[in-house]
Amino acid sequence: MSVDERMVHDIVQKVMANMQITGEVSGMHGVFKDMNAAVDASIEAQKKVRVMPLDQREKIISVIRKKVHENAEMLANMGVSETGMGNVGDKILKHHLTAEKTPGTEDITTTAWSGDRGLTLVEMGPFGVIGAITPATNPSETVICNCIGMLAGGNTVVFNPHPNAKKTTIFTINLINEASLEAGGPDNIAVTVEEPTMESSGIMMKHPAIHLLVATGGPGVVTAVLSSGKRAIGAGAGNPPVLVDETADIRKAARDIINGCTFDNNLPCIAEKEIVAADSIADELMHYMISENGCYLADREIQEKLVQTVLTPKGGLNRKCVGRSARTLLSMVGVEAGPEIRCIVFEGEKEHPLISEELMMPILGLVRVKSFEEGVETALWLEHGNRHSAHIHSKNVDHITAYAKALDTAILVKNGPSYAALGFGGEGYCTFTIASRTGEGLTSAQTFTKRRRCTMSDSLCIR
Ligand code: NAD
Repeated sequence: MSVDERMVHDIVQKVMANMQITGEVSGMHGVFKDMNAAVDASIEAQKKVRVMPLDQREKIISVIRKKVHENAEMLANMGVSETGMGNVGDKILKHHLTAEKTPGTEDITTTAWSGDRGLTLVEMGPFGVIGAITPATNPSETVICNCIGMLAGGNTVVFNPHPNAKKTTIFTINLINEASLEAGGPDNIAVTVEEPTMESSGIMMKHPAIHLLVATGGPGVVTAVLSSGKRAIGAGAGNPPVLVDETADIRKAARDIINGCTFDNNLPCIAEKEIVAADSIADELMHYMISENGCYLADREIQEKLVQTVLTPKGGLNRKCVGRSARTLLSMVGVEAGPEIRCIVFEGEKEHPLISEELMMPILGLVRVKSFEEGVETALWLEHGNRHSAHIHSKNVDHITAYAKALDTAILVKNGPSYAALGFGGEGYCTFTIASRTGEGLTSAQTFTKRRRCTMSDSLCIR
């Protein structure tokens, strides 16, 4: 750690410890003891946001962006410190990305028809108060993207975060409200509770003032919001395969795959989780991953030890291993790896538990296939019907097209690391809420609005 890193680390520890000692988070904007009180405050803030000019919403968003840039190190440190997952350097990059590339009010467009019978507009209006549930894996990143998009759409938002990330979330929500106040907006544009629980989540989901629910997390929470009887956006689990065929630039594919897979210790739901490789290039790909990209080749014994360590006897994830570095995981199975090691690789069948499970750890199994068709079938099986993300390295456009059609995912990265899909080293905007299951794809301000038709009969057409 450098002197600067040490200072940030110490500040983070002090802030977190202070939150613990008092047992409450006094002085923080947007934080309530009780979920009903939080929703009431959001309703009050919504009355002001609803009538706010777009220009004012944009002013608040620009202060949010500024504050996220300024606090990127702090937020990254808090997230890693509280959840024990991910790595600070990559989380800093993720925060700058959310500040720069999450769309604001410019994302909301109007459709118009004009003619002899007048003028009709379809404008995108706010839902009002939105209920959002956020994951432990990208805690502050998700809150920031959600807040920018939801506010741009004219909404306020009530969060029920993952309990393991509540302090990071509270810190972020305070920052968002400070930004609003600084830009002349209201307090409580984003709110939460001191102790998020399943009960507080239930109160939020059932509250009559909330008309839209947005869940970012695993299958349980997505099913919960889709069973609520309300409109819901479900950003669920993935298990993205990356297919490499014989036409790919194998050396580059190895580099891109390991960069994508190891980003924030494999926490992003879009990150490469397993490789499907054509038989003719599989050895070359493995060679470049090991010789040039810091990969540790796990033999059968180590694989078995990893299975015993990272999975529970029932086959679930050992939460203590999620989002840990390759070196930490290796040390858990008795291997002391050097600082150059970033990822654990091995070859196996698609049914291997370290391949078929969504691990969210830098462990990357390679499945060898005899033909492109077998590769597509294998990748489809590994994606488990989530239709979330899949990636490919190929120069054969027919292969790319066939793969994209068959996998039918919200995200498909071709010839790049997975994070290119988030606008990081790729075109397009950023979000950490990818609505795979309900079909909105990468969410943005427009996603959090409803279509409203406004018709003027027989006037205002000036053609
Ligand atoms: P998680 O499912 O354990 O928790 C997510 C959130 O849902 C938390 O706030 C949790 O408290 C809540 N929750 C869980 N079950 C619930 C239920 N039955 N009712 C109400 N709330 C419930 O997930 P996590 O470990 O925090 O995050 C990792 C998972 O989320 C992975 O599966 C990953 O793929 C997925 N994820 C998806 C996206 C996306 O954009 N599609 C983004 C991030 C993470």
